[in-house]
This record gives sequence, C-alpha cells and structure tokens, in this order.
Amino acid sequence: MAQNDIGIDLGTTSIIVALEGKGVVLNQPSVVAVDHRKDQVLAVGDEALAMVGRTPNYIAAVRPLKDGVISNHMLTKELICRFVNKVYDSHLIKPRVAVCVPAAITGIESDAVVEAVVAAGARQVFLIDEPIAAAIGSGIDVREPSGHMVVDIGGGTTDIAVISMGGKVRATSVNVAGNTFDDEIVKLLRLKFSVAIGLRTAEELKKEIACCRPGTFADSMEVKGRSLLTGLPQRLTVTTEDLYEAVMPLAEQIAAAAHQVLEKTPPELAGDIYTDGVMLTGGGAMLKGLDEYLAQQLKVRVRVAPDPINCVALGTARCLVIGEELESGFQDATPRLGRR
Ligand code: ADP
Ligand code: MG
Repeated sequence: MAQNDIGIDLGTTSIIVALEGKGVVLNQPSVVAVDHRKDQVLAVGDEALAMVGRTPNYIAAVRPLKDGVISNHMLTKELICRFVNKVYDSHLIKPRVAVCVPAAITGIESDAVVEAVVAAGARQVFLIDEPIAAAIGSGIDVREPSGHMVVDIGGGTTDIAVISMGGKVRATSVNVAGNTFDDEIVKLLRLKFSVAIGLRTAEELKKEIACCRPGTFADSMEVKGRSLLTGLPQRLTVTTEDLYEAVMPLAEQIAAAAHQVLEKTPPELAGDIYTDGVMLTGGGAMLKGLDEYLAQQLKVRVRVAPDPINCVALGTARCLVIGEELESGFQDATPRLGRR
C-alpha cells in the first residue's frame, strides 16, 4: 500500500482522518464558519467551533453534514478540501482517498463528496458504507461468511446493520443518536427544574453522569443555567437518577430498532450474531450502561468497540488495503466524475 493513502470518516459531529498503519491523524468538529456578507468560508473545524457564539451576526457557524445528510454542498466541499490539505503533503504523489459516507446520503450528495476529494488532490476516490467501515475498524473480519451486527451511534443517526462476506445484509438508520440525548436532557431540565441549559452543558451531563442501566451507576454534577422563573442565572445539581427519564426512552428506541433488524435477519446469520454478539461503535457507544441495557433487551452479548469514536475512520483507511475482497460495501467512485 502507498504511504499516502487516506481514510476519511465524514461524520455529523466530527471529521476524522486516518492513515493505514499510522492511525488517526486529524479529528476535528465538522463545523464551518461562514461570512454571509461575502459568502466566504472563514474557518473550519476547531477554529470554526471556537467562533460559535463569539462572532458578529453576519458570521455563522454551520454544520454542513447535519443529521448524517449533506445540507450544503458548497460548504461540505470546502470542509473536505481544507481537511485533506491539512494531512496531505502536496510534494508527495497524489493520494488515494477512501471516504465513509453516512448511510442516508443520496447519489447526488456523494457525487459532491467525490468531487470535493478530487479537488483536494486525490488521484482516486473510494466510497465505503459506514457499517462496513465501522465493522472493519472494530476488528471484525467482514470477509468471512459469518453474520455480524454493528450498531453505530453517532451524533445525528444510529446506524444498525447486519453484514456478512463484506456486504450489508440488513440495515436501518434511526434519528435517535447522541444529539437526541442532549436535546432530551435540555427538555427534562426545563420541565423538571424550570432551568434552561445549553446543549454543551447537556452533552457534559450525558457524558459524565448519564447511565442507561438503572441501579449500576450513581453520580451528580453541578451545572449552570438560567431559571425560567426569575430569568436569572442559577446553579443546579443534577443526578444520574434525574436523567433516567430523558435517556431511557431513547435507549429503548435504539433497542427496538436493533430488534427489528434482528427479526428480519436470515436465521443462519441471526445464529451467528447470537454466538458472536453485537458490536457498538460511534461516540454514543460510550454512554454508560447502554451496552448492558442493549444486551438485556436483545438477549445477546453486546461489546463496545476498542476505540469507538475512531472505528469508522480506521476501518475506512484499512479498506484501501482489503477493498478488493469486499463484496459490495466498497466502490471506486472516481469514474463517476466522467458522467458530469
Ligand atoms: P458522528 O459519526 O455523527 O460524527 P461520533 O461517532 O463522533 O458522531 O459520535 C458523536 C456523539 O458521541 C456525540 O453526540 C457525543 O456527545 C457522543 N459522545 C462522545 N463521547 C461520549 C461519551 N463518553 N459518552 C456518551 N456520549 C458520548
Ligand atoms: Mg460516525
């Protein structure tokens, strides 16, 4: 394999770039700061995120990959170009780039991604399905004729798939994922304590003290918000117990979606999954107790991948090595450009 092969995970929350053999070389938020007066991109990634809430109103921070679907082609292109240029040294031979596109992406949107990657200097572009990349990155040998189930819980979507012999056999995608947990925590605090908190605070609560398996973990955290009754700043101590009301219904929805996929899985493959278990990937996989909750609901072993956030990027980079042996989840997209 060439030294300059690049794998990109185009996530709703973050864009992660990995090089086979070297691991993750870049992980930045998928945010673009735009100056609306000139329609100009000012910054991407960390730099753009740092501007959120601190800019004059003609500058906006945009997440162009919202909910796993590309909402703004121009900004997505700019984001990809700038990131590829950060890791790719133009003195070397042009790189081959594999990109993992969200499951919900349409043909036109993925064409835009391919174009952006070529514009950034790639000599060849490959597209890979997210569940296949997630499985490879979590150490599963997807080429073997055995069924595996991967549940990837990202920011915008949870993607559930059964794969075998390098292809997707059954799959579904639900809009319940990391961001939904944050939203529900915000709502709960408004209802229960009449306190308004921001999404970043909600995310902190989720990561630090939320748990999906009642009785297995207990902690509390003090947060700052605004009282809806007085309009003034207020401190509030929130406990793990308080948050069950927000997180449990969402965990239930993820379990129900996984259950439906299992129901539709051919018996042989379902048998393999019962032996092998389910693999959780994506940042949302780190929610405390979610693995145990899903194991209890689905009656199978559930494991969190060793490096859940980076799984997809690592698997995508790895694809450039094993791609030819994959059934359907991996395709050379460079010829698509000829059609345009
Ligand atoms: P995407 O593929 O959409 O870019 P990621 O796989 O990076 O998303 O996951 C992002 C989500 O994971 C966010 O909602 C974030 O809050 C959540 N997350 C990250 N770390 C944790 C953690 N320790 N506990 C719970 N959720 C987490
Ligand atoms: Mg992802």
